[in-house]
Amino acid sequence: MSPLPDPQVRPTGVTPGSGGLVDRHGRTATDLRVSLTDRCNLRCTYCMPPEGLDWLPKVEQLTDDEVVRLVRIGVEQLGIREVRFTGGEPLLRPGLPGIVSATTALLPRPEVSLTTNAVGLSRMAPALAAAGLDRINVSLDTLDQARFKQLTYRDRLPDVLAGLKAAKNAGLTPVKINTVLLRGINEDDAVPLLEYCLEHGYELRFIEQMPLDAHHAWTRGEMVTADDILAKLTATHTLVPDVEERGAAPAERWLVDGTELTVGIIASVTRSFCGACDRTRLTADGQIRNCLFAREESDLRAALRTGASDAELADRWRIATLSKLPGHGIDDPSFLQPTRPMSAIGG
Ligand code: SAM
Ligand code: SF4
Repeated sequence: MSPLPDPQVRPTGVTPGSGGLVDRHGRTATDLRVSLTDRCNLRCTYCMPPEGLDWLPKVEQLTDDEVVRLVRIGVEQLGIREVRFTGGEPLLRPGLPGIVSATTALLPRPEVSLTTNAVGLSRMAPALAAAGLDRINVSLDTLDQARFKQLTYRDRLPDVLAGLKAAKNAGLTPVKINTVLLRGINEDDAVPLLEYCLEHGYELRFIEQMPLDAHHAWTRGEMVTADDILAKLTATHTLVPDVEERGAAPAERWLVDGTELTVGIIASVTRSFCGACDRTRLTADGQIRNCLFAREESDLRAALRTGASDAELADRWRIATLSKLPGHGIDDPSFLQPTRPMSAIGG
């Protein structure tokens, strides 16, 4: 835990001991991303090296009860209205259904969703729906089995497609699909993925690749941009901007071929939306991060394990939020990639 910042620099009206998660730039975090594990059963090349990473020792990982306590503090004391469980791969966490049902029992009841690679989802979807999970996002970068294996180092495409179907059947809708395109590897999957989603009623969103890979191989020049993606899609489909209010939603959306169905692009790099960001993050080892790209964290686990009260934990979380930077700064010459990769932060 870093020392408390000088009270002189707190924004007007925000004092420890009251209120929500407000930063110095006037944004309020109401959307909590909780990473439940840093482990994964795939090795997406833009995320994790094929040999995996040094996983967190179990003792450093929050227990299910600790996760639920911090989520409860977020909801009851800090104005959190949406909770998304992620990882690593959150389906690898045995206590996931219990954590979901404890979260959906909170008041005011938050919206609860999950981001997953869907391996094993066909088995888990009914239990997650029964626990009250509202929605699901599945990551899928290709429909070609050989390319899936090349991209993830695992031959699991059939499991993912079965997981998608099970999520829809269990009512975890709208099912959204997240796709990252890599130049020269799966760019050609953009249109087939769109057509697959239109056919099955899934909502497709492309995510620009960000400098959050464990092996620091990202380069701006190699990245497939929102403009590149739009050019590919509009070569074969008609896209009309969706006029529905975007709010803090990261995806820009388009209506496809005169239908109600949409496709989105999350252009985190080329059209960043940091000014509207409403997120706060809790890592699997109990660190609060006020931004994906933050270089500092606030250790709630140590405080929690040494007897801090709910009010003290809430205060630490408020203080951690104050120092959120106005933007990720990827374009600044001084930009430094965070030490933790995406899989250990929680995407
Ligand atoms: N394992 C789960 C999954 O893949 O959905 C949840 C964790 S994963 C880190 C969450 C999301 O982050 C996925 O949609 C993945 O595609 C995305 N992601 C991972 N590394 C990324 C990167 N370097 N740039 C952009 N998105 C990334
Ligand atoms: Fe695992 Fe998700 Fe990272 Fe792929 S993107 S390696 S599924 S954590």
